[in-house]
Amino acid sequence: CTILNRINNIDEKLGAYLTIVKESLSEAKAVDRKIGNGDYIEPLEGIPYSLKDNISTRKIKTTCGSKMLENYISPYDATVVERLKKNILVGKTNLDEFGMGSSTENSAYKITKNPWDLTKVPGGSSGGSAAAVASGLCFFSLGSDTGGSIRQPAAFCGVVGLKPTYGLVSRFGLVAYGSSLDTIGPITRNVYDCALVLNHISGYDTKDSTSVNRGKKDYTKGLKNGVCGLKIGIPKEYFHDGIDNRIKEKIIEVVKELEKKGAIIIDVNLPHTKYGFFTYYNIATAECSLNLSRFDGIRYGYCKNEYDNLNELYSHNRTLGFGKQVKKNIILGTNSLIKTNYEKYYEKGAKVRTLIIKDFKEVFKKVDLLITPTTPTLPFGIGEKIKDPIKMYKSDILTINANISGIPALSIPCGFIENMPVGVQIMGGYFNEEEVLTCAYEVE
Ligand code: GLN
Repeated sequence: CTILNRINNIDEKLGAYLTIVKESLSEAKAVDRKIGNGDYIEPLEGIPYSLKDNISTRKIKTTCGSKMLENYISPYDATVVERLKKNILVGKTNLDEFGMGSSTENSAYKITKNPWDLTKVPGGSSGGSAAAVASGLCFFSLGSDTGGSIRQPAAFCGVVGLKPTYGLVSRFGLVAYGSSLDTIGPITRNVYDCALVLNHISGYDTKDSTSVNRGKKDYTKGLKNGVCGLKIGIPKEYFHDGIDNRIKEKIIEVVKELEKKGAIIIDVNLPHTKYGFFTYYNIATAECSLNLSRFDGIRYGYCKNEYDNLNELYSHNRTLGFGKQVKKNIILGTNSLIKTNYEKYYEKGAKVRTLIIKDFKEVFKKVDLLITPTTPTLPFGIGEKIKDPIKMYKSDILTINANISGIPALSIPCGFIENMPVGVQIMGGYFNEEEVLTCAYEVE
């Protein structure tokens, strides 16, 4: 199997995978034979893929990049894994611990490198998935996106990444970070693959109470519809001084091309954009502090059997099992939820969230799609931002508002600067994945 050979040759340097599923080799042969027999198989069937290691798999470890879950094996498959049963799972990819980070430097196991320049980060937190797809170590991958973790690494690695509308893809089996923001989505080499994978993983699931029942759709159908007559908004708040000018220029080139193809370009405003940063970290860390309270080392997870009382047991397990960034997020979240701070922080964040949602609702009355850069900077060096948390947090400044509001957003490569890939972000109204993909197809 060429994929496994490639992994053997390359992955030691790249560090994309945490677990390789060796048994997948024999399954791969079984699918080959089926093709040989001339049987009809669906386009995606049998295609090798990888999964971010915070998506649960029965029989295969799900570590979440954390020492806390070093030997954890889930008793069930995530719904998305069930839906890709006919595919071959090559392995589980590296990530920032529990999805917290923007560079894949926060994994307890290894640092993933950017395949275009091994001294640079691949982005995060789905950095392993994006690096694996970009370097041909699988044909597609599933990542999770809470604040940009699919799109930012897709942009840094030069691949396509889609965060679907909240509720379109079941989160059952995704280890939660911020439940009201978390989504699962495809990371692929091109737009067609992205649509195809979305066909398989989307759809109603009774196991996820936030899953939305909209029936099944074929997302590949509208890909060639073209952008003629589509109204595309350019929100000025996404082109501020903090964004690398060269990236802004690349995005403008994309917009001009789309205009030539018949798209109608409109300048628009999303006035509450700047509050996204505060709102996101407020909500994400608050939800994180609740979600991660289950990791006490008793039911599952890291357990150090030296303690005098229950408190000590919890504190030993959590101190030793969690990494720095996770602890930071838990403390921040707990702080905004304590009685005396709740109104000042969490509640205020929740209120501002509705204003950000309103901005998008208003703007999508005027335009069909929005185009912005995906990231404010080019891929940065390994170690460059790890000691400056604010700078690191700001890597997601252009992606977080899609999570706050739940709208679909996709990143697609649009050229290179200094030999590193640049991503353009296309956002759409709720459940308008179809037009997002149509537009992406034209950018490709
Ligand atoms: N970097 C962001 C965070 O740490 C986004 C993470 C994500 O989307 N999973 O919260």
